[in-house]
Amino acid sequence: MKYKGYLIDLDGTMYRGSEPIKSARDFVKKLHKNGTPYMFITNNSSRSQKDISQKLNDMGVPATQEQVVTSSVAAAMYLKGLNQGASCYLLGEKGLHEALEDGGFSITDDDNCDFVVMGIDRHITYEKYAKACLAIRKGAAFIVTNSDTAIPTERGLLPGNGALSSVIAVSTGVEPIAVGKPEPVIMEAALSKLGLEKTDIAMIGDNYHTDIRAGINAGIDTIMVFTGVTRKEELPGLEKKPTHHVADLREWMAFI
Ligand SMILES: [Mg+2]
Repeated sequence: MKYKGYLIDLDGTMYRGSEPIKSARDFVKKLHKNGTPYMFITNNSSRSQKDISQKLNDMGVPATQEQVVTSSVAAAMYLKGLNQGASCYLLGEKGLHEALEDGGFSITDDDNCDFVVMGIDRHITYEKYAKACLAIRKGAAFIVTNSDTAIPTERGLLPGNGALSSVIAVSTGVEPIAVGKPEPVIMEAALSKLGLEKTDIAMIGDNYHTDIRAGINAGIDTIMVFTGVTRKEELPGLEKKPTHHVADLREWMAFI
């Protein structure tokens, strides 16, 4: 057994949209059967832990809500460490609102607040941008769940939170603190829940620039899978390589 626990990406690693990746499902089933700890880590801020664990369960993947760390949950954990119970102005969807409410923060509609927290908001308006900018100019700290510039959808690549939040950064001149992969913040949040040492775990993911970078930045071994974004042909050109790479997780079954 190479590692005592795993952090696992979702999109492109466990599923593609609504289609499960069978080798990944079998892999996680075996982890579950062996009692090996694992957690899922996603930059998706719009969905709740419950929604995501339900989606995984529907695909036959054993997952509890507690085993899912979204960038919204990581943002709430991070902010708790800075200022428990602070007031937050939110731009985002259900997953972000739930995570911050569950974290004990007071969600305000006022531009006099401690934090402006932004996740992807597909109902963004000028007024929301205006309030966020005013709050930041009054001294609120600016936090984003993730900096993904584009997100893959059935329609093609659509604007991600990094693109939407750049409006605020450009207007105020304030760069946000990002929580999601490849930043170490979300990794530390997941690690604290997993309760294992960094040297005992590996991060599994399909996207070199988010998942594998997150592992490298946090000092955690990485396992790259070629079931999603990054293609095997890109590997020779990468300066810092993943610790391991496999076509899919069936290849890693022998090591668990
Ligand atoms: Mg992915």
